[in-house]
Amino acid sequence: MTYVKHNGVPDLFITMTCNPNWQEITSELFPGKEAERPVQIFIHLVDSHNIYGLKRCHVYTIEWQKRGLPHVHLLAWMAEKIRPHQIDSLISAELPDPKKDPALFATITKHIIHGPCGPLNPRSLCMKDGQCTKHYPRQFLRETVTSLNGYPLY
Ligand SMILES: [Zn+2]
Repeated sequence: MTYVKHNGVPDLFITMTCNPNWQEITSELFPGKEAERPVQIFIHLVDSHNIYGLKRCHVYTIEWQKRGLPHVHLLAWMAEKIRPHQIDSLISAELPDPKKDPALFATITKHIIHGPCGPLNPRSLCMKDGQCTKHYPRQFLRETVTSLNGYPLY
């Protein structure tokens, strides 16, 4: 809250998790080595290489999920405010082409898509009083829309 008081609403809210046993990580390691601190490496990339642009400041917290997997929430305030026309260059809410990148498509559809819930799965954990507590399903939009509450709609 101190950061928000001094810097205003953050420009980016990034959530990242990582399993050090993922094949994409283990295949890059020298024989006998284990992945160390992948979340910290991500933070280093954000911090030192400005992968999202020049930052003014950031704050993060690392949580440990079940089975000991790290999970980071990072808030970043950019040197220049991100404008609505720039959002699509930072984030994509589209499914990747399954023919061009089948591994990414499989990862996205397995781990990132919410649901099914609602009438298709009324016993889903997100359901309460017959409604999805995460407000799904949501409308499809042709363009990203920013709102006054700070949450863009993709
Ligand atoms: Zn739901």
